[in-house]
Amino acid sequence: MSICEKCWADAGGNHELYLELLKEREANPCTPEQQKGHAEPPARLTADALDDLLDAYAGALSHLAWARANSTVGVHAVAVAAVCEARAKIVKAVNPHEDAS
Ligand SMILES: [Zn+2]
Repeated sequence: MSICEKCWADAGGNHELYLELLKEREANPCTPEQQKGHAEPPARLTADALDDLLDAYAGALSHLAWARANSTVGVHAVAVAAVCEARAKIVKAVNPHEDAS
């Protein structure tokens, strides 16, 4: 017999109702994701997306290096903020459930 987290949740933990729901939905069953209890799995970070994030981070770092050597304090501060933002985006992409700080 199949096990379905969604039907179990819909049955409110009532075992008889659960069995009825499974039978009712036999012809048109829940998706494998629903059956596992994850209707919307978190998006995975692709290699291309990671490359883009790393490119942005590398760009921000090199701009910061340039600003340190050649520019005013104001431009330097903006460059630091850009590096922090690029870094935070990577942290968030790699671990979407944690705050980047
Ligand atoms: Zn189901």
